[in-house]
Amino acid sequence: MRQERELPVKKFDEAASKKADGSEEKVRVLGIMGYPVGHSLSPAMHNAALRHLGLKGVYLPFEVLPGYLEEAVAGIRALGLWGVNVTIPYKEKVLDYLDWLTPQAELIGAVNCIACREGRLEGHNTDGEGFLRSLREEGGFDPEGKEVLVLGAGGAARAIALVLGQSRAQKIVVANRTREKAEELAAQVRRRTAADAAGIGLGSQELASAAFQADLIVQTTPVGMYPHEEPPDWFKPEWFKADTLVYDIIYRPRPTAFLRQAAARGCRTLDGLGMLVFQGALAFSWWTGLDAPAEVMREAALRELGS
Ligand code: NAP
Repeated sequence: MRQERELPVKKFDEAASKKADGSEEKVRVLGIMGYPVGHSLSPAMHNAALRHLGLKGVYLPFEVLPGYLEEAVAGIRALGLWGVNVTIPYKEKVLDYLDWLTPQAELIGAVNCIACREGRLEGHNTDGEGFLRSLREEGGFDPEGKEVLVLGAGGAARAIALVLGQSRAQKIVVANRTREKAEELAAQVRRRTAADAAGIGLGSQELASAAFQADLIVQTTPVGMYPHEEPPDWFKPEWFKADTLVYDIIYRPRPTAFLRQAAARGCRTLDGLGMLVFQGALAFSWWTGLDAPAEVMREAALRELGS
């Protein structure tokens, strides 16, 4: 992380402008930085939340070209932005340019939202918590004491596996195409949480047995995402057992072919829309200090998905 620098500090209060009658009207600018960002549902969700709460503000997509992340992040402070989300491919790289991280961002080693407070750039991660809230509220599932199979070992899998470990899951098996990455993530879960964890490859006998043991299976790879909607060819539908909750973090299409296979075997299923909505709601609350209107944000995301 970079040292704090002597910079002209701009607080968001200073972004207030005077109305004709002399009263102050805050102009709040939020946004999302990534490359590309055109597909993001976040502007629709956050603009709906701002409107619903009657806040003067706007949430914009900021496409940050490769090589310009440092300048873009400096711009948050220089321009007095209220906060930004960070998405692919910058969630890890952005840590180099921040002054402070919340414990969740420290745990996960990635940031999906930034706030500028008193001139200090703070990084937070709501992906794991958003997943957990969806799991609890929509799935009625408490991870404590449970066995979980996580498919994939990328950024989303890391947030999910670590938060599940922190929530006292008993055992987490990470299965990944590149086996070493699964083993690395499992080692991280063992080191940083009380959960037992193991890393395995895909398509192995181990995967069948991990699926059979699991109370919860979380699919975190992009396999099955629009426009390539085929189910993973490395997971056999007969490995699902009916009392397993199956969660696919993809939300385009709804449901994915993977979830359709699970449902056909009698499993309860959840798609990634809840995680998306709750990570956004948690970020909105972190920026504003207000209760986020999660249902309004969900409706906005659904409208956008439908269009
Ligand atoms: P990432 O860091 O690039 O990781 C991708 C993971 O998927 C890696 O483990 C990779 O394995 C694996 N993978 C990729 N293609 C594969 C294939 N053909 N067969 C098997 N495994 C494959 O991506 P991420 O940020 O974790 O995002 C993953 C997915 O989650 C994306 O679809 C994203 O849209 C979605 N997502 C949803 C939410 C939500 O709120 N619902 C939030 C974040 C992400 P290797 O290690 O072998 O390359």
